[in-house]
Amino acid sequence: MAVLVTGATGFIAQWVLHYLLKENYQVIGTVRSQEKGEKLHRQFGSPSNLSFEIVKDISDSEAFEPLFKKRGKEIEIVLHTASPFHFNTSNYEKDLLIPAVNGTKGILNAIKQYGDVKKVVVTSSYAAIADFAKTTDGSAVLTEKDWNSATWEGCQTDPVNAYCASKKFAEEAAWTFARENKTSLTTINPVFVFGPQKFDEDVTPQLNTSNEIINGLLHSKPGDKIEPDYHSVYVDVRDVARAHLVAFQKELSGERLGLSEGRFCSQQILDILNEKFPQLNISKGPEPGKEDTRPAALFDNSRSKGLLGFRFIGLEQSVYDTVAQVLKKEGKL
Ligand code: NDP
Repeated sequence: MAVLVTGATGFIAQWVLHYLLKENYQVIGTVRSQEKGEKLHRQFGSPSNLSFEIVKDISDSEAFEPLFKKRGKEIEIVLHTASPFHFNTSNYEKDLLIPAVNGTKGILNAIKQYGDVKKVVVTSSYAAIADFAKTTDGSAVLTEKDWNSATWEGCQTDPVNAYCASKKFAEEAAWTFARENKTSLTTINPVFVFGPQKFDEDVTPQLNTSNEIINGLLHSKPGDKIEPDYHSVYVDVRDVARAHLVAFQKELSGERLGLSEGRFCSQQILDILNEKFPQLNISKGPEPGKEDTRPAALFDNSRSKGLLGFRFIGLEQSVYDTVAQVLKKEGKL
């Protein structure tokens, strides 16, 4: 029996494939083109237990049907990671909201019609939990029980809001479906995900959306104004990937797994970069070594951490591994 991973080319999904293959699962990945599937198969060393199917655009609510007609009976576990995560659009419905929601509904409907799936894991986000207004409220405590209060119309003010809401609406659709169809569902709700790309060759001048926070700081110049000056929460990609496996292995049905290892800010990342890579001539930041005292909500994900049962990678390691890979690619390490 096989595990299906949608959006297999993604930053997080490639690490999910890594851990699944390490544990000898039969793995089917969905990719948008033949070339992408062939490249990924080669990168993983062409293992016989890894195959790919093409799903071009999850905005089409029937996009998953041919795959499930063909291979539905093989698939026991579905890990649905595919969803647009970028801010390069002004057509929020078409490019963010619709693919997120139709992708989730579409795969669940295909499972219902043609599949024999035992367990579904959907990659949601902290964005589906956190209400923007609350994240800067120093007295707020958010947990896996909270929901972003965004509305379909109200979220379409800028791409960040629209992306966050796309995750909320997609996750809501998944829980509604699970309730109505008695599907065994777990969602994974990570905060900003840092960490290395699975394959060095995929390091490009522009990285995936979350790692661009680190990449931007790495390419800063002394004296640059640090803009935007992030203060948020992070988790490492390898922990996010492992959580996808634990979610079905431990049968954490009905759980929203909130993944965060704590707060970070731009200054803290610059401090790590300047300490670990003193040869770099980059910004020292406005207040080197100074702790971030801006008010922020606490994300109490102790329930999820207890259920998962493994220690998360810390900021220093996550930033180091991300940056060392970039510097190697640039011939600077
Ligand atoms: P990536 O952009 O690296 O991966 C996204 C994946 O989804 C890619 O495989 C992409 O395919 C696929 N995809 C996007 N749009 C479509 C579409 N319309 N049709 C078919 N496939 C599509 O992002 P991440 O790995 O960072 O994110 C993976 C998941 O994790 C997403 O659901 C994201 O919302 C969630 N997440 C990410 C966080 C982060 O900080 N990185 C934090 C919280 C949640 P292709 O490569 O061909 O474009």
